[in-house]
Amino acid sequence: MRPFAYERATSAEDALRRHQDGAVYLGGGTNLVDLMRLGVEEPARLVDVAHLPYDQIELRPDGSLVIGAAVTNSAVAADRTVREGHPVLAQAVLAGASGQVRNLATVGGNLLQRTRCSYFQDAAKPCNKRTPGSGCPAREGEHHNLAILGWSDACVATHPSDMAVALAALDASIRIRGRGGERTIPIEDLYRLPGDEPQRDTTLEPGDLVTAVEVPALGVPSRYRKVRERASFAFALVSIAAALDVGDGRVRDVRLALGGVAHKPWRARRAEEALRGAEATEESFLRAAEAELEAAEPLRDNAYKVPLARNLIVRTLTELGEES
Ligand SMILES: Cc1cc2nc3c(=O)[nH]c(=O)nc-3n(C[C@H](O)[C@H](O)[C@H](O)COP(=O)(O)OP(=O)(O)OC[C@H]3O[C@@H](n4cnc5c(N)ncnc54)[C@H](O)[C@@H]3O)c2cc1C
Ligand code: SF4
Repeated sequence: MRPFAYERATSAEDALRRHQDGAVYLGGGTNLVDLMRLGVEEPARLVDVAHLPYDQIELRPDGSLVIGAAVTNSAVAADRTVREGHPVLAQAVLAGASGQVRNLATVGGNLLQRTRCSYFQDAAKPCNKRTPGSGCPAREGEHHNLAILGWSDACVATHPSDMAVALAALDASIRIRGRGGERTIPIEDLYRLPGDEPQRDTTLEPGDLVTAVEVPALGVPSRYRKVRERASFAFALVSIAAALDVGDGRVRDVRLALGGVAHKPWRARRAEEALRGAEATEESFLRAAEAELEAAEPLRDNAYKVPLARNLIVRTLTELGEES
C-alpha cells in the first residue's frame, strides 16, 4: 500500500474543500481500503466523511424516509420504520456482507462500492474499468457471474450493491452536495451502463458528496430475494427487489429491479409495463419476466442467469400476490 494522508471532514463544505489532489472520500472503508491493499486504488489522501452529521433516519409524515449517507448498513437494517414500511430495503441490506462489515459500512459507501469483477480487483491484469483502453479479459475469460443485460464490448461487469437494487425498485433519489451546490437525482440517473467509458460507474462529478437517500412511502407488500453461490457472505448471482399492489385480482402497480445482471441495478420496466392492469396470476408474471429477459444477451458461461432471473421474478411476484 502506498503512503497516504488521512483527514477527517467536519462539514460538507470542509469535505468538498479537502477533496482535491488525488483525494477520495472514506466511508467505513470496507471496500476502499480493500482496493488500496490490492493496489487498485492509490489515493494520496483519504477524506473521512463517515463522521459527518448525516447519521439519522428521518420518517416524514407522509411515510417517506430520508436516510443519511453516514448511517451504517446495520442501522438501516435494524431501524423499525425501515423494517415495517420498506421491508424490501431491510431485507436487501441484510442479504449483503456480514454483520461486522455492515457495522462499519455506510449508506454512501455501499452505493458507491466498486464492482467485484475478479480482473478489476487484480492490478496485474488488464481491465478497461481500472485502466481505460487496456482490454476486458472477462469477455472471453471468467464471466460466469457477470452481466447478461446492458453490457458493452468494453465491460461486462455487474454492479455489486444489494441496497441499490432495493432503492431502485423504491424509486429512491440521491441527495448530492457538489461544487455547484446541492441537487437531488433519481437513483436511476446515478448509475450508468458501461458503454465505451466503463471506468465511470456513476454520473457523479469529482468531489460530489452523497449526503442522503430519499425513499418515497411504499404501503404495499415488498420483498428482496438473492441467489448466491453460498448461503451467506457472497455477492448476488441474481437478485430481485419487488413491490406489488393487487386489487380485485389485477395488478394495480408493480415495481421490479434486478441485481447481478447488469452494470447498474436493472429496473425491469418492460416487465412492469406488461403487468400493470394484468391479472395477478403466475401466467402473467411469467409473460412479464419473458418480456423483460428478451433483451438478455448472455455470454458463454452465464446463460443460466436468464432462467434464474425468470424464476425469481415469477416466484417472488407470486408470493407477493398471495400477500396482497
Ligand atoms: C467480505 C465482504 C462481503 C460483502 N458482501 C456484500 C454483498 O453481498 N452485498 C453488498 O451489497 N455488499 C457487500 N459487501 C460490500 C460492502 O457492503 C461495502 O464494502 C460497503 O457497503 C461499502 O461501504 P463503506 O462505507 O465501507 O464504503 P467505503 O469503502 O468507505 O467507500 C466505498 C466508495 O464510496 C465512496 N464514498 C463513501 N462515502 C461516500 C459519500 N458519502 N459520498 C461520496 N462517495 C463516498 C468512497 O470514496 C469509495 O469510492 C461486502 C464486503 C465485504 C468486505
Ligand atoms: S468486465 Fe469490466 S471490470 Fe471486468 S475485466 Fe472487463 S472491463 Fe474490467
